[in-house]
Amino acid sequence: MKIINLLRGKKVCISCELFPPKEGSQLENALEIVHKIAQDGVDYMSVTYGAGGTAVGKSVALVGEIEKCKVPALAHLTCVGADKVSIDTTLDQYKAAGVTNVLALRGDKPQGRPMPEGDFKHASDLVREIKSHGDFCVGGTCYPQGHPEAATLEQDIENTKIKLGEGCDFLVTQMFFENPAFYNYMYRLMAHGINVPVVPGIMPITTAKQIERIFTLSGTPLPASLRAMAEKFADRPGALKQAGMAYAIGQIMDLIANDFTNIHVYTMNKPEIIGGIRKALSEIIK
Ligand code: FAD
Repeated sequence: MKIINLLRGKKVCISCELFPPKEGSQLENALEIVHKIAQDGVDYMSVTYGAGGTAVGKSVALVGEIEKCKVPALAHLTCVGADKVSIDTTLDQYKAAGVTNVLALRGDKPQGRPMPEGDFKHASDLVREIKSHGDFCVGGTCYPQGHPEAATLEQDIENTKIKLGEGCDFLVTQMFFENPAFYNYMYRLMAHGINVPVVPGIMPITTAKQIERIFTLSGTPLPASLRAMAEKFADRPGALKQAGMAYAIGQIMDLIANDFTNIHVYTMNKPEIIGGIRKALSEIIK
């Protein structure tokens, strides 16, 4: 099933994200998580791709298991440092695993090192390659608070349009913690004539460690209210998890109330998070 059809539908569409485990022995555990989430119900699951294809076999195993559970999989693919042959090989593996949806990404710059050479400079180049390789529905990313490398948000939006020009079917946003930032961004996309579905990405903050990593990895600012919550419950992991879930549920509820009915949840391989969110919103998402 092509995800664009879910996103263009009238129903609320809630998706979640998994990452392939680093250790081979943990793959079984990750496959069990896929089954647990599929049983509880979700509209699609996305699977991240290790920078430079480090865990490609495990990503393929996970997307294959998701498809076997009759849930659409969105397979991430990064192109930084990759050549055409390796990208086409991965696309063939995805195809063989039953995947019809790919999220095209450039991937992060390696820290403290120059960008590795490869056949693709930007995600837009990868979108073109995927579209020419098969009948895939292709997603791309966008950044409501601007990509950290872009000089201005306007320039970043112009660059996002290049991806769309190559045939990108929908966009998924970087995480944000204040909905008005997303609403402002949507107005700007509209002003640029962008009308593909844009899926807001919501990250429930459930551990203190996550808070430290978020700004470093994504550059997304944390609002004062979330910072206060994190400080208040810093020594009580159970309370912090509950508070983080409640915050994310509040954001999701507000998005749905404003007619943004496609939501992607960064769940960090924790089935209880997506299950808890769906349970808390059971009447709303019916
Ligand atoms: P691009 O779209 O190439 O953009 C990168 C920069 O280049 C931006 O500043 C943009 O404005 C500019 N730019 C884009 N196109 C052009 C162009 N044609 N000409 C000139 N400038 C241009 N990383 C992983 O390693 N694995 C994952 O699975 C993964 N999943 C992610 C999922 C989501 C939803 C998000 C938001 C990010 C994910 N990332 C992942 C991180 C992502 O790879 C990084 O954010 C990376 O820095 C940029 O990737 P991109 O695809 O947005 O790149």
